[in-house]
Amino acid sequence: MLRSVKGLKDILPQQASQWQHIETVARTMATQYGFSEIRIPIFEFTELYARSIGGTTDIVEKEMYTFPDRDGSSLTLRPEGTAGVVRAVLEHKLLDSPATRKLFYFGPMFRHERPQAGRYRQFHQFGVEALGIDDPLIDVEVVVLLWQFFLTLGLKDLTLHINSIGTLADREIFIHKLKDYLSPKLSTLCGNCQRRYSTNPLRVLDCKVPMCQEATQDAPILIDYLSDHSNVHFQSVLDGLRSLEIPFSLNHRLVRGLDYYSRTTFEITSPNLGAQSTIGAGGRYDGLFQALQGPSTPAIGFAVGLERVTLLLSEDITCKTAPLVFVAGFGEIGKPTAFKLLHTLRQSGIRADIDHKGKTLKALLRSADKLDADYTIILGDDEVSSGNLILRNMQTKSQEVLNIKEITQRIHKGL
Ligand code: ATP
Ligand code: MG
Repeated sequence: MLRSVKGLKDILPQQASQWQHIETVARTMATQYGFSEIRIPIFEFTELYARSIGGTTDIVEKEMYTFPDRDGSSLTLRPEGTAGVVRAVLEHKLLDSPATRKLFYFGPMFRHERPQAGRYRQFHQFGVEALGIDDPLIDVEVVVLLWQFFLTLGLKDLTLHINSIGTLADREIFIHKLKDYLSPKLSTLCGNCQRRYSTNPLRVLDCKVPMCQEATQDAPILIDYLSDHSNVHFQSVLDGLRSLEIPFSLNHRLVRGLDYYSRTTFEITSPNLGAQSTIGAGGRYDGLFQALQGPSTPAIGFAVGLERVTLLLSEDITCKTAPLVFVAGFGEIGKPTAFKLLHTLRQSGIRADIDHKGKTLKALLRSADKLDADYTIILGDDEVSSGNLILRNMQTKSQEVLNIKEITQRIHKGL
């Protein structure tokens, strides 16, 4: 039997309504908060990601799906959404209008990682980007949207972690201090972090390996090295969150290893997901536009891992679909009349279905049960010639004799 590729997951019909529910909540809330949807391609030139995500990140070092196009140019399946959004914004000059500076997106992302619960090679994100706004209150809006999105979905026991990583200049001073602190402990760090010590020392702080966490226990703290300007911004973000009574936890380990990231950094974790505890993460990336040859543009966004959200949603949170009417027609005249009635019902916006194989009333009622129909309209030859159809409530099993007009009126009134 042919199987799907390792690390890829089918979303089966039983799970689809849960996904639709999450997407509806995301779309509704992002719109309420003033964001508009953007749909960007699934692959881009590799250069976009190499330039924007940066060579010393896990993604670019080892996780990208990169392949040559037929003309030899290098393409990459998108590992995240921000780079593509910024590329599209620059290409279509969306910064020119305030109406297109707050954007959200959905879609699959691709990373060649070790598959495990909550970690796949194709996964889905919902993300937002607020572009061209420096005010700390936009940071608050973005964080609050993420927080409220999870609350609206009914997720519990979440923690909002927040930190500021200052500007590039703030970090230069800090990184010196951090390296001084780490250098005598180098041999106790994991192999990855020994390498990071020279390539990207900040990342040692968020390494999940216990040895590294222990080694960095008393490491210098980034917010102690913020410039006044960065510090005022950060305090205003925290004040904004306090004013809206959003609980947060300062987390000094929360860093981003790229030069264009700056100031506010945040993520939301759940204790119920094992090792993959982060369901959404974001922060400011005030330097990204320039890294992609655009004008200097402050920006902030987040991305949510939707598979992890589905793992946390309780089973019974599914979309309530409209009641299903099953049309059970049998006999010479009953069957074609049922087919026409089905069309009429669907045209008037009613969810209706039929079983083309069922020949007898018994078989048809069994199909109606299997489809979980709420009502069945029964019409055999006799019913058609008398004009009196039977409307059966599948739950109570009660039946009423009605004509077609009465039935459609009933259905329109919600039955
Ligand atoms: P992690 O530390 O879990 O690898 P990350 O820092 O690589 O996460 P981001 O790039 O910030 O993740 O992506 C935002 C969110 O997307 C994550 O918080 C997570 O919920 C989700 N995510 C990231 N990688 C995967 C994956 N391979 N499978 C499923 N979800 C993922
Ligand atoms: Mg990762």
